[in-house]
Amino acid sequence: MSKALGTDDSVNACMCCGKANLKFTVIIELDNGEIVHYGQVCARRNTGKTQRAITSEINAAKAAAVRSAQADYLASPEYLAERARFAEREALARKTGTDLIGRAAAEFVREACEAAMAVRKAIADKYRVSPWSFPA
Ligand SMILES: [Zn+2]
Repeated sequence: MSKALGTDDSVNACMCCGKANLKFTVIIELDNGEIVHYGQVCARRNTGKTQRAITSEINAAKAAAVRSAQADYLASPEYLAERARFAEREALARKTGTDLIGRAAAEFVREACEAAMAVRKAIADKYRVSPWSFPA
């Protein structure tokens, strides 16, 4: 059974009827596995599903994408390195009895944070979700 996988605002023409200048298209996986982009009307007509059912599938697919993105991010060496760097900063504070604050504190973790952010963004792009859609 064909399934709605999400929406795409970078594809603005329906592959069914050719209608153009759509705000977004619905990404549909057909029974044969082919991925197509349809406008909302053609998405309903071709799947035989209600708008509510399609929206529900889109939301489920988005939630799954967010979970996958988060799992990838949490497993990434860059995220782990960032956590390690923060732990290092705390250990240093305990050892010296002085917390790094302000600019010095930020500078201590800056490189690790930037690397982690780059990976977060790349993973978010891969799953087509916002970099801020998953915690950590
Ligand atoms: Zn169409």
